[in-house]
Amino acid sequence: MFADLHLHTRYSDGTFTPEELARRAQEQGLSAVALTDHDTFEGCDEMAESCRIRSMKFIPGAELTTELEGHELHILGYWLNASDGPLMEALARARRVRVDRIAEMVARLNRRGVALRVESVFEIAKCQSPGRPHVARALVANGFCRNFDEAFQKYLKKGRPAWVPKAKMEARRGIQLIHGAGGVAVLAHPGLYRVDALIPRVAAEGLDGLECWHSKHSAEASEHFLQIAQQLNLAPTGGSDCHGFAKSEPLIGRVKLPYARVEALRARRPIQTI
Ligand code: AMP
Ligand code: FE
Ligand code: FE
Ligand code: ZN
Repeated sequence: MFADLHLHTRYSDGTFTPEELARRAQEQGLSAVALTDHDTFEGCDEMAESCRIRSMKFIPGAELTTELEGHELHILGYWLNASDGPLMEALARARRVRVDRIAEMVARLNRRGVALRVESVFEIAKCQSPGRPHVARALVANGFCRNFDEAFQKYLKKGRPAWVPKAKMEARRGIQLIHGAGGVAVLAHPGLYRVDALIPRVAAEGLDGLECWHSKHSAEASEHFLQIAQQLNLAPTGGSDCHGFAKSEPLIGRVKLPYARVEALRARRPIQTI
């Protein structure tokens, strides 16, 4: 039995519907999947149903956008109670920040003579957790850029004219919210931060796991993070971080986590007092 604990749908920056994602997971021979859209649970109910009809195990999750010492860190939360008040409020706030940020990006584009309308971004996004990829798609759809990459290179990349920083919660707060909602907290794709010294610092805030296996980690990197996980007593986890066709070919199936790892992670759930 194998799992993929890092997947996105069109409810954040992926392109698959939950149904399409579940179908592909089954085709890849996965028997358990987690949905980890950015700052939202919007797709979890649909994904749960699509997994149930395929007799696949489903783990509700979300990927929280946090920061530590100026670095953006993504923290994955699993087995979250989606009706937990503080977590729901924090996610709603994160999504308001995303929506306001899109309006600001469009205003900056408009000031440079790119007449993109903010409504056209939201029509393309059709979700509660929009981001730069939706602005990029709107720029292409409206003929302002030739392709997705050009939109990032010309306008949306950090330092480019329409780039707007995103207000983020502290990593410590993200971990507290996840634990408060009965879940476990895992640091996503440590290989993408290029600063290993951050790992023990986040671990000290109560982290439960480390995403050792990820599509962007080489075999050597995975081995390296596995050692760090052992040293810091973190449960090693893995996921493909598939975004459908948003960035590349679909990555689902690239990482297959033995199910025993999922059970070891699940065993770290905080004791439920209610
Ligand atoms: P946001 O959360 O709105 O800042 O958007 C982040 C998303 O944009 C992630 O899915 C990234 O993979 C994607 N992204 C960031 N930089 C680039 C880039 N240079 N080219 C293409 N996609 C990018
Ligand atoms: Fe993403
Ligand atoms: Fe991420
Ligand atoms: Zn992700």
